[in-house]
Amino acid sequence: MIAVENLHKHFGGFHAVDGASLEIGEGTITGLIGPNGAGKTTLFNVIAGVLPPTSGRVTMAGEDITGLPPHELFHKGLLRTFQIAHEFSSMTVRENLMVVPGHQSGEALWNAWFRRALITREERALAKKADEVLEFLTIDHLADEKAGNLSGGQKKLLELGRTMMVEAKIVFLDEVGAGVNRTLLNTIGDAIQRLNTERGYTFCMIEHDMDFIGRLCDPVICMAEGKVLAEGTIGEIKSNDAVIEAYLGT
Ligand code: ADP
Repeated sequence: MIAVENLHKHFGGFHAVDGASLEIGEGTITGLIGPNGAGKTTLFNVIAGVLPPTSGRVTMAGEDITGLPPHELFHKGLLRTFQIAHEFSSMTVRENLMVVPGHQSGEALWNAWFRRALITREERALAKKADEVLEFLTIDHLADEKAGNLSGGQKKLLELGRTMMVEAKIVFLDEVGAGVNRTLLNTIGDAIQRLNTERGYTFCMIEHDMDFIGRLCDPVICMAEGKVLAEGTIGEIKSNDAVIEAYLGT
């Protein structure tokens, strides 16, 4: 689904991504691991259009998407979530989901004045969709809670929920398990797995928790010093000498 070819991202003379090439197969949950500073987040940012590459190419289903801005990638179904969930804290959980799709009739002034009925109908449909998403994620009891009151893990679930409000094809998850308690981590893991099997989502996730990676991801790609060091099952990666050396070297 995604092919990254010889990608470079330099910050001044520093090569954060230094000729990385990798593929993310359709329907996979691909794990991206590597020691701190390996270039994982920078790679994500380049793929997701947050940073322009210095050189190299990114394609999605064969189409060149190198350097496209995030909103264009969003419309192609490529979404990236952030390490720090960025919800609207004073809005409810349901409202946070309802604002995701954009292009609602209410955005145009003309519509706002003359087409109240249409807007109400759209809002009802969106609210219904939001409630379905919350049920899927087993957080429907939080629908009317202010998003700012959620725990870190619940915010991560909400972030996953936001991807379900649009036609996502591939979702890039940045440390979705970081700082989340075990129970909620299992809920998040279940949601990722179900989105993958039941909704056909492809995932690529940066993660440090090896148990979490081992449970969800195949294949696992290990980066070090801006390059792809190894790719394989979690078992193969854990016993790969170059991977062990990269981790021990930090
Ligand atoms: P990882 O996610 O694997 O920990 P990062 O992609 O965050 O690695 O960082 C890779 C390297 O690039 C790090 O040494 C980091 O300091 C550097 N880096 C990241 N972003 C910038 C930036 N905007 N300016 C300069 N250096 C950066």
